[in-house]
Amino acid sequence: MSETQKQREFMERRCPHCRNIVTLERVSHHVQTDHMVNEEYITWNEGNGYEMWECPACHGIELRSYFWADMIEPQDIKYKTLYPSVSKIPLGLPANIKKQFISALKVRNLDANAYGVLMRRVIEMACEDKGATGHFLNEKIKDLAAKRGNSSTLGQCGRPSSKSWERWRTFKSWRVNRERTSNS
Ligand SMILES: [Zn+2]
Repeated sequence: MSETQKQREFMERRCPHCRNIVTLERVSHHVQTDHMVNEEYITWNEGNGYEMWECPACHGIELRSYFWADMIEPQDIKYKTLYPSVSKIPLGLPANIKKQFISALKVRNLDANAYGVLMRRVIEMACEDKGATGHFLNEKIKDLAAKRGNSSTLGQCGRPSSKSWERWRTFKSWRVNRERTSNS
C-alpha cells in the first residue's frame, strides 16, 4: 500500500534545509519486519525503520531512521537524521562569530551566493578575533597561518586549487589564441 493510500502523517519541527518551523509530511516509510530474534525461550521481532519527510516550504527531504523492537514503546523510539548531514558548529567560537556561522548555515541550501558571502564574513570575523594583519582576506589568512605555524594547510585557503588554476591557464591561452586569430 502506498503512503498516499494510508493515513497521511505530519509533524511540526524545524526543517533542516530552510530552517523554518514547518509541518513536514511523511512521504515514504519503510520498516524491516523480518528480523525475528530468538534468545533463551523469548522471541521478538526487531528491525530498522526509514522515513522520508518533505518540507512544504522548500520541498527539501529529510531522511531519518530508527530502531524498533516489539518491546520498545513508541515514545521511547530514538530517531536519527541520515540526510541532510548535520553541520557541526565548531567548538569555542565567540558568540558573535557563532551567530554569523548559524546565519550562513540557514541559507546554505537555498542560496549558494548568499552562503559564500556570509561564510566569507565568518572568516573575516575569525581573522579579526585572532588579530590577523593584512589588507585583503587572503593576506589575513596567510598572516594567521604564519602565526600558527601551519602555513602548509591554512595558507593555501585563499588560493585557487591547482586544478582550477590549470583550468584558468587553459582558458587564458585559448582566449589569447582566439584574439590573435580574429585580429589577423
Ligand atoms: Zn524547508
